Amino acid sequence: MKKFVKIIIALVLTTIIGVSGFMIYKNSQGVSYDISSVKKVQNDVEIISETEDGVTIKKKSDDDFKVLMFTDTHLNGKKETDIQTVSYIVKNITEQKPDLVIFGGDNVSSGFNKKRNNELAQLMENLGVYWAAVLGNHEGDGVFAVSREENVGIFSSYDYCLMRNGAKDIDGNGNYTINILNSDGTLKEVFFLMDSGSYMTDESKKEYGVTEDGEVYDGVKTSQVEWYGNKHDALTAEYGKFKSITVVHIPPYQAEREYSEGDFLYGDKREGVCESGFDAGLFDAMIQKGSAQAVYFGHDHVNNFGVMYENILLSYIQPSGYGVYNMQSKFDSPESEWIQGATLLDIKADGTFTSERIYNHS
Ligand SMILES: [Zn+2]
Repeated sequence: MKKFVKIIIALVLTTIIGVSGFMIYKNSQGVSYDISSVKKVQNDVEIISETEDGVTIKKKSDDDFKVLMFTDTHLNGKKETDIQTVSYIVKNITEQKPDLVIFGGDNVSSGFNKKRNNELAQLMENLGVYWAAVLGNHEGDGVFAVSREENVGIFSSYDYCLMRNGAKDIDGNGNYTINILNSDGTLKEVFFLMDSGSYMTDESKKEYGVTEDGEVYDGVKTSQVEWYGNKHDALTAEYGKFKSITVVHIPPYQAEREYSEGDFLYGDKREGVCESGFDAGLFDAMIQKGSAQAVYFGHDHVNNFGVMYENILLSYIQPSGYGVYNMQSKFDSPESEWIQGATLLDIKADGTFTSERIYNHS
């Protein structure tokens, strides 16, 4: 063999070994938080039944049902901030003892994220609290990141996870409901959890009449709005009237307009609302079906306002991540002005609820 060929082979082999080593190293990187150290949180919630697009749960006691929501946790492999984010997730869950935890999307971001996805799920398993999630625009967008479908598959393989890939043949991954029953079997609340996608494709821009070039945020599509209506009808047929709350990651199309025209309730708008680039009719369907009390979303890390619009609360979930742009990196704000935390909902037997914004800083 010629010396030149040998050198080429050696170089190729070195590159392959180097790249494989790097990938093994990156894939083995977790959130660097000792998840085995967490203690189980007491609760008395049980799964009653499930279908492909919904899970029914029940709390044995008649106490209010507590839902703790995090969003944009962005566990992205940066050691220090991942530890900080997870520590506060654990602290808030341990202190609030919620009956259900919901992650509002951009939960685990950046590439090589399989291990971090499993760790977040294992963390919730160790805490022993039922949890659910919606996908954000960043799920699946890094190098060697798991696909959005795989992401749902990983989460839903854990016992305490109520996330399901959901109805087949409609857009998105993870369109499903969580139906919460009172101890007497009546339906207390339905959470509609839906995938608001990532960025619009040229095809969907054409379909929804969006003329803007470049990156436009995606949103809930027509097929999902149809699913919402059908699912709503099926639940009404089974249980009669009920109340509901919808969770998506990207603020709905109306969010910016609602901010200026709606009845402002709380929080601040510190940056423009990066809402979906089109309206496929979800908001109208909510008004028409009549059960909707609120739409919760995340996505904009320094906004945390809520407005009442057409009798429906449109509200940010309190952002929860430290490893992404935030009050500190965007405005150089002192810690006393940071807004990372969680949103707590306290749901009564009749489905009405009160909410509280929890701040991590003291
Ligand atoms: Zn986002």
